[in-house]
Amino acid sequence: MNGKLYLVATPIGNLEDITFRAVRTLKEVDLIACEDTRKSGILLKHFEIETPKTSYHDFSKPEKVQRIISLLEEGKSVAVISDAGTPGISDPAFRLVNLALEAEVEIIPIPGACAGISALVASGAATDKFSFEGFLPVKKGRQTRLKEVAKIEQTLIFYESPHRILKTLKELSEYFPNRKVTACRELTKIYEEFVRGSFEEVIEDFKKRPSIKGEFVIIIDKILKK
Ligand code: SAM
Repeated sequence: MNGKLYLVATPIGNLEDITFRAVRTLKEVDLIACEDTRKSGILLKHFEIETPKTSYHDFSKPEKVQRIISLLEEGKSVAVISDAGTPGISDPAFRLVNLALEAEVEIIPIPGACAGISALVASGAATDKFSFEGFLPVKKGRQTRLKEVAKIEQTLIFYESPHRILKTLKELSEYFPNRKVTACRELTKIYEEFVRGSFEEVIEDFKKRPSIKGEFVIIIDKILKK
């Protein structure tokens, strides 16, 4: 019988944000496929998880991915973890999940932290309909993507790095002049912060800072019709 492929969510900063089920699964599987074995090593050590690790990321060679599939076909169980949060959400997992499905391997999600969802619910933006946009393209296709996204009347979720946050906020402000925005910084960590307001207000706030650090989620509220 084939083994199972577990997609295990790990914390996005605060180590307490891992479930009992996630820890048990990571202890019980035969192999953990990590986006980065060194980074995940810290988490695994903290929870005294001694399961063998291998690396799996978007640039893994086909032979490497096939080796993981072969193990699953031999009946071994494998867990996938990324550097933070839910595998498959702006993180590797997609290719492995689809190859595993082709091999008739059962896929089991172990839910947990996801930066986009934590940011969304705390932002105050409408949650009835939303579109997860992840990272905007850095260069090629960026303006095309922004034009497409500007047509979406739902709440929007973007991921962004600290060195591009101001540039991205400024660009987004041109496409969404009247929408409310929340910049969510360092979720679940010591310096967790939500900067809410119009684009103008949020941009002003960040412009005043000597430096901008940390990880960001940008939430743009959906068009609120009166
Ligand atoms: N798989 C992850 C998830 O479930 O949210 C996302 C991984 S993606 C490679 C990394 C991006 O997620 C960061 O650049 C940032 O935009 C966002 N992110 C991750 N952790 C965060 C945190 N603690 N606070 C704010 N944003 C975070």
